[in-house]
Amino acid sequence: MTQLAGTLYILSAPSGAGKTSLVKALLQQDADVVVSVSHTTRDMRPGEQDGVDYNFVTMDAFNALIEQGQFLEYAEVFGNKYGTSQQWVRDQLEAGRDVILEIDWQGAEQVRRLMPEAVTVFILPPSRAALRERLNARGQDSEEIIDGRMAEAISEMSHYPEYDYLLINDDFAQALDELASLFKARRLRQGAQQQKQAALLTDLLSEV
Ligand code: GDP
Ligand code: ADP
Ligand code: 5GP
Repeated sequence: MTQLAGTLYILSAPSGAGKTSLVKALLQQDADVVVSVSHTTRDMRPGEQDGVDYNFVTMDAFNALIEQGQFLEYAEVFGNKYGTSQQWVRDQLEAGRDVILEIDWQGAEQVRRLMPEAVTVFILPPSRAALRERLNARGQDSEEIIDGRMAEAISEMSHYPEYDYLLINDDFAQALDELASLFKARRLRQGAQQQKQAALLTDLLSEV
């Protein structure tokens, strides 16, 4: 992709680390950030809305989208396919918005190759016990399923060294503040400011 006005962020985390809660809170306080709604072949969960949480599609429809080259990345996660719409992400970035992809490490690997300028963030829980507690608190899952999720979490967490930034979600307000600070700081980079403040810079440097 050519020089784009917005920044692409990739957020990954093991289930229960607080990725969805942090992104939701960030969107509420920062109007220049949007989150990509992925396509998935998994069943809709109670409370989820098509087009809001995910675009829910059949495996055939998903495969057709792959054939058409519609995905920036796609991956199989726990038996289901998940993919990010290429066109939507490009449109948002061109419009100057920062875009968040909440994707797993396999998707992150693909996007990093295509768009090396993407900023990648890995979110970790403060401890194994806290992660288990959050998984427990969230649902009706059996001990066995939670054990499985913990094992998957450990495998996901082993990919943290591949990311630019590491965030520990212990105190929620602090983690949110840190995430928001990262977005703010990236917007102050010289290249970004050069585009946004073009008129001011021209004015300041013009001969009197
Ligand atoms: P939940 O995030 O715990 O509610 O479970 P989901 O079924 O929504 O997500 C399962 C996994 O798929 C997570 O690791 C997500 O980060 C990942 N995921 C979601 N959307 C995408 C996507 O578009 N691409 C890729 N590669 N992974 C995705
Ligand atoms: P993920 O999207 O990473 O699977 P969620 O955002 O769904 O995680 O958070 C998992 C659970 O942990 C939710 O019940 C959420 O309210 C809770 N949670 C998130 N962050 C914190 C935190 N800093 N302290 C305590 N509980 C948290
Ligand atoms: P939830 O508890 O949000 O309903 O869903 C939890 C499930 O989604 C877990 O089984 C976990 O496998 C998967 N999941 C959600 N987010 C992530 C993530 O960032 N990484 C990985 N590896 N799995 C995730």
